[in-house]
Amino acid sequence: MHEPRLGEELTTGFTRVAWAALASFMFVVLVVFAVLSEIAVRRASEHSADVIESLLGLYADPAGTPTGVAPAMLADQLVGMGDPFVITRTTRADSGGGTVYYLSPTMPAKPLTGLSGTSAPAEARAIMLDALAERARWRFRVLHRRVESDMGDFDIYVVASRVPHVWGFVGLVGAAVVLLPLTALVVRRGAKRAVRGTLEPLDRVTIQASAIHPDDLSRRIDSPTGQREVTELADGINRMLDQVESAQRALKSFTADASHELRTPLTHIRARVQWCLAQDRGSEEIQDAFAAIGQEIDRTTKIVDELMLIARGENNQLDVECVSFDLTDVVKEVAEIAQAMASGRDVEVTTDADGPVRARGDADRTRQILLNLVSNAIRYTPEGVITLSARRKEHEVGAVVQDTGVGISEDDRARIFERFYRVDSSRSREFGGAGLGLTIAKVLAELQGGVIDVASELGKGSTFGVWLPEAIEPGDMVPAHLREP
Ligand code: ADP
Repeated sequence: MHEPRLGEELTTGFTRVAWAALASFMFVVLVVFAVLSEIAVRRASEHSADVIESLLGLYADPAGTPTGVAPAMLADQLVGMGDPFVITRTTRADSGGGTVYYLSPTMPAKPLTGLSGTSAPAEARAIMLDALAERARWRFRVLHRRVESDMGDFDIYVVASRVPHVWGFVGLVGAAVVLLPLTALVVRRGAKRAVRGTLEPLDRVTIQASAIHPDDLSRRIDSPTGQREVTELADGINRMLDQVESAQRALKSFTADASHELRTPLTHIRARVQWCLAQDRGSEEIQDAFAAIGQEIDRTTKIVDELMLIARGENNQLDVECVSFDLTDVVKEVAEIAQAMASGRDVEVTTDADGPVRARGDADRTRQILLNLVSNAIRYTPEGVITLSARRKEHEVGAVVQDTGVGISEDDRARIFERFYRVDSSRSREFGGAGLGLTIAKVLAELQGGVIDVASELGKGSTFGVWLPEAIEPGDMVPAHLREP
């Protein structure tokens, strides 16, 4: 699918907005021009009518008969004004009939033909207006004013032309038609340049991000980029790369560790098989060798089982109950097993668990976690005391395994939950540990919505705690944080 480029989109949008603004401005200019032109035409007409009316005061019919209308002086002055106009006069003849005259700058004064002497002034006016309107149409404005005087009644018709204004208007429209596309072109070029400059940091981030290859995840995008949003994007990508890189490193080291752990017993098995295949082996020797092979196979199977348990736990494929159970019972049960495990060693196992401590989770999985913690405590406590207790803290309940053993340094504490991590691998392997016990404990605790914490001091001992959500019994007071609002 063809997707438009951001730069093009922005340029087009920007040009469209600029063009629309300019076109609206032009439209407003044209409307204002038209309105002002009309006002000017109307005022000019009124003004002409005023002047003509005042000039009419000078008019006198020398003969007192309707043979002539305008004396030369009046005609000259009116013509000198320049505006087109028409003046009519209706005079009463001796016979009692009326005569209509007209005067205009371009024509000599004459009686108006087409009208009889008996035409009423109103009729003459109507015919005059019709005639003018027919010719003038929209191009002219016709002002009519009725003037009554001692000499008779005059009708002044000022015909003002709109044509010069129309030309001005047409000129403006023409300029708009030519200028608008031209301006759009110029705006588009300017916008393109501006947008290119604005998007430059984004382009740089895109180029740098595409250059990062899975084989070399150590490269990062330059930050700051010069634009806050783009810098945030670059930082976000860099943070993601950090996580991907550390996940990749963990995966690599996991693969290396897993193959190492599995290859060691396989090498042992092959060596023993070869030893057995040699001639002159007694049946007793062969039986011993097979027993050792069996042990190696058990060890390997255990590692594979544990790895599968971790994988299924991490992929949420393990069945984990979420019910209320008494943690004290589990602690006591594990303490009994621990006592059996510690028999024959200089280690005392004690419990500190009175009364029910209700947890929400899976009792069997919790027992599995505690067995891992307790077997570690026994392994790493050459002599001393191991105390198992059930505790309550705010909205959590915990089973705590405390020992007075060798302790764990701060650096190691940060890594003991990683797969295959062992502080002293030869010593740990000697105890049968592959470095997966704490990883399993962590996965199982998290699956129940809980956590494992550890506090330790080298040479003094360690304290591991499994903390699970507290179960709320029907009669219990509901904790404030769980109450319905
Ligand atoms: P392992 O099977 O080797 O015991 P774990 O994952 O259970 O593996 O433990 C990881 C490492 O953490 C161990 O190798 C050990 O060095 C250290 N460790 C665990 N528990 C204790 C403890 N109670 N005291 C001292 N060290 C411990």
